[in-house]
This record gives sequence, structure tokens and C-alpha cells, in this order.
Amino acid sequence: MQDTLLKEIQDLEQKGLRRRLRKVEGSQGRRLTIDGKELLNLCSNNYLGLADDPRLKRAMIACIEKDGVGSGASRLVCGNMSMHEALEKKLEEFKGTEAALVFSTGYMANVGAISSLLSREDVIFADKLNHASIIDGILLSGAEFKRYAHNDMNSLEESLKKTEGFKKRAIITDSVFSMDGDCAPLKEIVHLAQKYDCTVMVDEAHAIGVFGKKGCGLVEHLGLENKIDIQMGTLSKAAGSFGAYVCGKKILIDFLINKARSFIYTTALPPAVCAASLEALKIIEGEPQRRKQLWENTKYFKVELERLGFDTMNSKSPIIPLLIKDSKLAVDFSKELFDKGILVQAIRPPTVPANTARLRVTVMATHTREDLDFTLKKFSAVGKKICLI
Ligand code: PMP
Repeated sequence: MQDTLLKEIQDLEQKGLRRRLRKVEGSQGRRLTIDGKELLNLCSNNYLGLADDPRLKRAMIACIEKDGVGSGASRLVCGNMSMHEALEKKLEEFKGTEAALVFSTGYMANVGAISSLLSREDVIFADKLNHASIIDGILLSGAEFKRYAHNDMNSLEESLKKTEGFKKRAIITDSVFSMDGDCAPLKEIVHLAQKYDCTVMVDEAHAIGVFGKKGCGLVEHLGLENKIDIQMGTLSKAAGSFGAYVCGKKILIDFLINKARSFIYTTALPPAVCAASLEALKIIEGEPQRRKQLWENTKYFKVELERLGFDTMNSKSPIIPLLIKDSKLAVDFSKELFDKGILVQAIRPPTVPANTARLRVTVMATHTREDLDFTLKKFSAVGKKICLI
């Protein structure tokens, strides 16, 4: 066994695909410390800078003082504490849906919801670039798995036309794609779903807090609240906390409580985590200026990157990829930036398709103009050095 593992790791190393952990000291902010080195953080999903917000910390500490640390059991045994229900009530109100259910992670929400709602008799149409947790949920469900070309509505319709004889039909898509930063054409997807009698599930992991007047996500931004059957999202990115949710009709949530194995067979989230999430939702709603600042930073940074000659693909969000293609070159770029005081990760296959290795840059509301200008200067220098621009 050990020999095989070693061989595989060496193989990854040779291809420039080996992954390693880096230890962050201190909290998650626009600056991070790694191995004693202070770096500007350009790769976090903490879009609004809430992960170390004093109000979230206070909410968490107060909840620990009141309710303790662990939840002791799964929600269905004795772990369903008042803070879980308070967070779900807030999510219902925030998203304007009949009901909401909190899961421990986004991965578990997708795997649990998809694998319980769909089965061997059903068919799922899924975007090729959907998040791994959606793919794993589909595989676990046993449903017929039809992947359509990324954001390609002709490809989706062709597939919908050809596929008959299944009991349930569902279209599942990320709303903001996590490695490309582009958005799903949700209006067109809803149109096709109505035409071909499909349920629609949307993963708003990177859209909550970022899109929409209230910060509810791309579904709100496009006014599709009543047209999407299942809205999933995470509380670990713009909300700066941890955990995830599924929102929809009461019957959907009731079903998940009874059938979603990743909800049933796991210990409930610590109540203090829910307290922090609840506080974050209030801030997302009550402080639109954070979102405004995030978008100002995003637009400025993207335009300047393109002006320098970088290919930012079709990004429409604070996730801005810099296409490099070659995995080793992407890693070298990331290393050079690290030496110059900037943290950006190289994203390589299998996370992204072959020959599309990239730097995944994420902008935060808390980045200053000086931060962004400093980064642009370093990107330009390294980009020229490796002959990318
Ligand atoms: N969906 C998408 C689109 C994601 O990007 C992620 C996290 N990277 C998840 C789901 C999983 O969420 P979590 O990190 O809470 O497990």
C-alpha cells in the first residue's frame, strides 16, 4: 500500500499537481500570517470581511456562555437547540421562503439534499463546472447523470429533449461558479425547466452576501425567488461563519429532515456557530455599503488586470481567475507572489479542466485601494517575468 501511495504522490509532484497545507497564524482578514510572513490575502471567500468581525465574535462568545460549546447529538436526537431554530427562522425571513434547514457544511447540504431527493428512477441535468459536492450528491443518488456544457443552454435543451421516461427531472447548477467566477443564466434555466417539467436547484455558496439588494444571492438579484424550487447556500463564505442551508417549501424541508442522511447522521452544529451566522445575516441585510465596496473593488481590480493583459475568463463576480493553463507555471506564479507578499493559490486539475490551470483571485470589501494597486504591480512584474503578459 505505502509504495503505491508514494508512487502516486511522486506522480502528482512531477505533473505539478501535488497539494500541500499551509499554516495560517491568527485570524482571517485581508492580511494573513503564514510561517511568520505577513501576506496580503487575495484568495479568501471571506468576501465581506466578516470572519473576524467583532460582532460575530461577541455573538459567538455570548452563545457559548449561555448554551455551552458542543451540541451533544444529532438534531433528531437531542442536539436541536434554540439557536439552530433561531438561525433557520432568520434564513426563512431573509430568503423569503416557507422553510429553511441548516446543514453542517455546504458539502453535506448538497450531498444530503440531492441524494435524498433523487434516485435511480430520476434524471439530473447538471452544468459541467458544478461544484464537487453537487457531483458527489448526484453520484450518490444513483440518478441518471446528464452533464451539459458549461452555461450552454443549447446543450442543456438538447439533453432535455432527448431524455424521457424518468420519474423526476431536475436541473442543478451553481449560481456563481467557484473557480470561474461567472454566473449561471438562471432566467434561461428556469424557462427550460418550465418547458421540460424540471425541478431547479441552485447553489448560492458564492452569491449570498454578494448579489442582490438584500444580499440574498443571484436568485434575488434576478427576481427569481418564486421560480427556484431548492435554494442552497453556505454560511462560511461572505457570511464569515460556518455551515450551510437549504431553503424552499415546508414539504421540502420536512422531507430533508426525514431523509437527508448527511443531516440525520451527524452531530448538530455547535450553537455558537449558528449565533455567529445569525449575526452575519443581520449585517448582510443591514450594511449594504459592504456589498457596494466589494463591487467597487471587484470592478476596479478586474478592469486593471485586463488592462495589464491578463485573461480573466468570463468572471462576473469577486472571484477573478487569471488563466495560465500550465499547472507548473501557475504554481510558479503563486510562489513568486508569495515571495512578494501576496497570497493567491494556483488552481489545477482535477479541480479545473485539463490545461486551464489558473490563479483564483478573490477580492474582499475590506481591501483598500493601496492593497489592490500593490497587488496589480506585483502581478504585472511576475506576469512579465514568466512571459504571460
Ligand atoms: N458549493 C460551492 C459552489 C462551493 O464553492 C463550496 C465550497 N467551496 C461548497 C458548495 C461547499 O461548502 P462548504 O465549504 O461549506 O462545505
